[in-house]
Amino acid sequence: MLFMMLILGLFVLRQINTNARNQAELALVRDELTTINHTLQLLALLDGLTGLANRRQFDEFLERSLIHSQKSRLPVSLIMIDIDFFKRYNDTYGHVAGDACLKKVGSILGSLVHRQGDLVARYGGEEFAIILSEADASQVKQFADHVVVSIRAAAIAHISTDLPEKVVTISAGCATIVSDGQKWEAEMLKKSADKALYEAKLAGRNCAQAEES
Ligand code: GH3
Ligand code: MG
Ligand code: MG
Repeated sequence: MLFMMLILGLFVLRQINTNARNQAELALVRDELTTINHTLQLLALLDGLTGLANRRQFDEFLERSLIHSQKSRLPVSLIMIDIDFFKRYNDTYGHVAGDACLKKVGSILGSLVHRQGDLVARYGGEEFAIILSEADASQVKQFADHVVVSIRAAAIAHISTDLPEKVVTISAGCATIVSDGQKWEAEMLKKSADKALYEAKLAGRNCAQAEES
């Protein structure tokens, strides 16, 4: 009888041990799933090629920046950026080199923006966008000029551009708004920056233009 009880006790102890091990393993699996989940959430917000914020993150960030602007009564500014003669770059150097050029430009843009309320995003194709919180029209124009100069100064060879420097250049359009809480403001700001970008292209590219909205 005593022997039977001993065997039973050992069995129960083993079960408890196994349960504890299972619990620990379950906790590990749960932690790993949480990490994977966070990574997936992050990846959903990033552009695969450049590692910059993607369009989705840009749109969400712009909405938040507009809400901040409405509360603070401070302006929010947007710069739309487009690489000049990029189709010719691909035609000349090939699509793989084109991708490398996009990465380089993205990395330079990323290195220029540091403040917490600011964001650089790949807007799509060879277009990028920068959101500057609490920046007025003159500050954003000054910054956009600096961005244009920085890309040109990187001296990425581009023999088929029309521009005399024969390096990769960008055109930029700036727009500024103080939010009033209207739901169409993000669209208005983007349209306005796009119009300024178009004017920069018309003005000969390799420059920044500003629009009041
Ligand atoms: P503009 O100075 O007027 O902006 O001329 P552009 O040639 O830059 O403009 P266009 O819109 O004619 O061409 C854009 C090119 O960008 C065409 C497209 O193949 C290229 N492009 C868009 N996305 C990518 C990409 O992810 N990788 C590469 N390599 N090329 C891309
Ligand atoms: Mg374009
Ligand atoms: Mg272009």
